[in-house]
Amino acid sequence: MNAEVFSSIASRLCTACGLCCDGTMFQIVKMQHGDRPSELAKLGMRIRGKEGEFHMEQPCPALKELCCTIYERRPARCRLFLCQQLRLLQAGETTENDVLALIEETRAQAAQVRDLIERCGLREDGQPLIERFERLTSTPVDEKLEPEIAAMREDLENAMKKLRLFINREFRPPPLSK
Ligand code: SF4
Ligand code: SF4
Repeated sequence: MNAEVFSSIASRLCTACGLCCDGTMFQIVKMQHGDRPSELAKLGMRIRGKEGEFHMEQPCPALKELCCTIYERRPARCRLFLCQQLRLLQAGETTENDVLALIEETRAQAAQVRDLIERCGLREDGQPLIERFERLTSTPVDEKLEPEIAAMREDLENAMKKLRLFINREFRPPPLSK
């Protein structure tokens, strides 16, 4: 696919998606040579680490209404990252509409997981989805004492399993993680 056409379609898709920035797919973005962690911290990014091993925590504070608000200054991994769907699109093996349908399906699944986490008692706290899920499910529920919570917990575990499988199959690229 022509680079200009690809870039314009990718831009439309990413601004309908945000899954690789909003804490659904990744917990961190590792800083690379040439990145400027201190400048990113001044821009409000949550930078952690020491001695040249820095990373940026997700969900990314720069993501506003599914747009990257530090686009020109985003770290190297963000600039280089292409999810599996964008790779397929670039190779002409899928279409914008098909990718959009997958994005909508995945975002709906992620929203369901977030909703179930809240209904199970853990409020939104700005942490990555997988961390919230693991924190919640690390506390056992007694099915006899709290049958409704136990049933919701089961729904949550099934929804999370489905989401992870879906993301791994459709979006996570094989060699380079963000
Ligand atoms: S997961 Fe893919 S389509 Fe979605 S925002 Fe990231 S790169 Fe764009
Ligand atoms: S800096 Fe921009 S591209 Fe990178 S994770 Fe944050 S919102 Fe996404």
